[in-house]
Amino acid sequence: MAEVTVTELAATVGASVERLLSQMEQAGLPHKTGDAPVSDAEKQKLLAYLKSLHGEKAGEPKKITLRRKSISTLKAGAGRKAVNVEVRKKRTYVKRDVTEPGPGVEETGTPAVTPTPDSTPVAPQTDARGSYQSALEEAETKRLAAIAARRKQDEEAKKAAEQAAMVKKAAQEEGKRQAEQAAVTQLESPGVARDETAAKPTKKRDKKEDDEDFEDRGKKKKPTKGARKRKGEELEAQDEVEDDENQRKPRLTSATPVVRVENVHVFQKPTEKTVHTVGIGETIVVSDLAQQMSVKAAVVIKELMKLGAMASINESIDRDTAMLVVEELGHKAVAVKAEEEAVEDALRAALAIDDATREKRAPVVTVMGHVDHGKTSLLDYIRSTRVASGEAGGITQHIGAYHVDTPRGTITFLDTPGHAAFTAMRARGAKSTDVVILVVASDDGVMPQTEEAIQHARAAGVPIVVAINKIDKEGADPDRVTNELAAKDVIPESWGGDTQFVHVSAHTGQGIDDLLEAVLLQAELLELTAPVDAPAQGIVVEARLEKGRGVVATVLVQSGTLSRGDFVLAGQSVGKIRAMSDENGDKVEQAGPSIPVEILGLDVTPDAGDEFAVIADERKAREVAAFRQQKQREEKVARQQASQLENMFAAFEGGGKKVLPVLVKTDVRGSLEAILSSLADFATDEVGVNVVSSGVGGLNESDIDLAITAGAVVIGFNVRADAAARRRAESEGVEIRYYSIIYNLLDEIKQALSGMLEPEVREEIVGIAEVRDVFKSPKFGQIAGCMVIEGTVYRSKPIRVLRDNVVIYEGELESLRRFKDDVNEVRSGTECGIGVKDYNDVKAGDQIEVYDIKHVARELG
Ligand code: GDP
Repeated sequence: MAEVTVTELAATVGASVERLLSQMEQAGLPHKTGDAPVSDAEKQKLLAYLKSLHGEKAGEPKKITLRRKSISTLKAGAGRKAVNVEVRKKRTYVKRDVTEPGPGVEETGTPAVTPTPDSTPVAPQTDARGSYQSALEEAETKRLAAIAARRKQDEEAKKAAEQAAMVKKAAQEEGKRQAEQAAVTQLESPGVARDETAAKPTKKRDKKEDDEDFEDRGKKKKPTKGARKRKGEELEAQDEVEDDENQRKPRLTSATPVVRVENVHVFQKPTEKTVHTVGIGETIVVSDLAQQMSVKAAVVIKELMKLGAMASINESIDRDTAMLVVEELGHKAVAVKAEEEAVEDALRAALAIDDATREKRAPVVTVMGHVDHGKTSLLDYIRSTRVASGEAGGITQHIGAYHVDTPRGTITFLDTPGHAAFTAMRARGAKSTDVVILVVASDDGVMPQTEEAIQHARAAGVPIVVAINKIDKEGADPDRVTNELAAKDVIPESWGGDTQFVHVSAHTGQGIDDLLEAVLLQAELLELTAPVDAPAQGIVVEARLEKGRGVVATVLVQSGTLSRGDFVLAGQSVGKIRAMSDENGDKVEQAGPSIPVEILGLDVTPDAGDEFAVIADERKAREVAAFRQQKQREEKVARQQASQLENMFAAFEGGGKKVLPVLVKTDVRGSLEAILSSLADFATDEVGVNVVSSGVGGLNESDIDLAITAGAVVIGFNVRADAAARRRAESEGVEIRYYSIIYNLLDEIKQALSGMLEPEVREEIVGIAEVRDVFKSPKFGQIAGCMVIEGTVYRSKPIRVLRDNVVIYEGELESLRRFKDDVNEVRSGTECGIGVKDYNDVKAGDQIEVYDIKHVARELG
């Protein structure tokens, strides 16, 4: 232990060296000069002597000192497990041990030296009266006070936290251990410990503060740390061991209260309501919303109800509604970019390809035009005459796209189902297309879908090459067609425009070569290039689920090279390409830009028009696919809820819009999209189609169940119901309608909708009688003597009374008589007597018009 000289000690206690020396001499110490070192033991002896002067036990401090130095005995109950803890226990034990011999010491405190239990150190109760003892005590007290003052601020800041820690500890520890823990907490650092002993009474107050010399005390005082046996505090305990070891000497400066504060802050309870910032994407599930605000879902649901919206815990609500709820509940709402969008952005960035490696590529062509103008015929002709192995006699497989080689270059055709109703596909087709061939039949001219095609091409910024078809036909009038197109701003080159017009016949093949040439010329102007040596990207042309093969997708590579074995993300689907084949069904290993191929290996059916990309990071690809699926599900649910709501409103309105619920399953995405978009077009103010469910693949039992609950018509386009679904449909009396021609399907739906239209009410005048005379009969009231001048007057039909061709009364007949007989009808040219019910103002010259109401069925536009 550090020693001080007598002079230093005197300076510390504020007494003269001489006086101190004399006191030391009286205490039996050998010191004679101010330079003489004073050991701890000697300090204790001096203190004991001074205390004895005031009637206190002389031996006590000594005892404390001895004990303290021994640092040997473990407290029986405390030396349980952790060694580190034991170290502190020793110290504590020693201290307590020291206090024990002096009765009353432990709880009452030793008046002379023990800091009082008050938070503010006070002067010892025993009057110092200028003695060294009191000087020592005062010095001690002052020092404690100084430390206390210095620590007070820290202390206060920590207090709440410490209390929280104590509460926790108290709950975990028992009795004495609890007290020990409290002591530990409070005596976290040496400096604090010092402070604590003065300011914070604990059951184990350090009694021997006084028994140390002042300097020593500053350095030596150690936190009395209770044993920490609990798991989870091991680490903390270890820290303390280190403290213990290190701090035997350095004291005040080694305090680390900050760490402690951090630890205990964990237990602090928030005192005010926390305002959460809630990020909301396009939609959010009620439970997620609740979680983000740290409230129960029921609270959110209640709030939604207040806003007039009904949603269950697992339902999605839109961003606007969610934001209202968040604000109602006093939190902050921020619209966030959907996670998926962020992921998509990252993906896009990752897929950005360096332009430097670009090479020339073949143009991709989409054939558009009005129905029956010869699109299919044209595509078929080109394929059958041009596709390389098509000539091998094999049936060319329809994969939705093919490429042809001509002497001047290769052209790729998107051969998407060429139905006029495929507006959706066409719109998408244009995006993946370099050149549009606009087919116009020379015997028909510009039709609505021709105009539509022009608009699509323009919107997509795709140049048009016009194929005036059926030039072989007798009624062909290509000039008229040219004029009509020019009127639509499609001006031929010969007129100074920029569009090439080619006269062709898909039947005879006339002009087809010129057409291909024209396409290639147009392509040259476009200077089409694409990187070849890069991971492939492109577009899904068509996709379907095939038994035994799984998802079969036709994709068009737009850049890079697609290889078998690549891992692909396509819309919401992912998968490793198991097999790849060209339009002839031949296996291929690779496909470069502008080449269409059929691939196997995707996990779910992508949509036509979906983009695909080869992604090296399989995990990332799956993540994006999952995001997309999730998003679609949410949107679907939102849509369904909206449509249910619409239905409800329709029902409430009564006589409002009538909706025909349908469930549609098709073979490929392309047909589904076409059907759905056509069905949507059928909607009028009065009637409409509600697609309760749609998808690709066969009809299964759950489809039928859904149709039953929704009262929907089940439609299978090129798909059939499985056995279970058939049984269920039969037992429930659900009719399944199969179609293979899209027109028939649409026609029948149209008829069904027409049937739902309110029939038109038409009036037909069936007879007119002229009033010749009016007389009164006491029995029948007023009777008009009439001549039927037109048609037949019927007793039971409604009538109008006309005067000078103006309707003056509308009602029915009371009686119709011929002579004395009641009759049901009177024909033209016959006289009769007519009594008008509830009307007695008929005059001669009036006309009585008899009419019929007919309900005429209407047809949907
Ligand atoms: P799409 O609906 O536009 O695909 O038209 P299609 O290719 O199905 O043709 C409609 C009808 O026109 C069919 O009966 C074809 O045989 C006929 N057709 C198509 N191209 C020609 C042609 O160049 N000359 C003649 N005479 N008939 C054609």
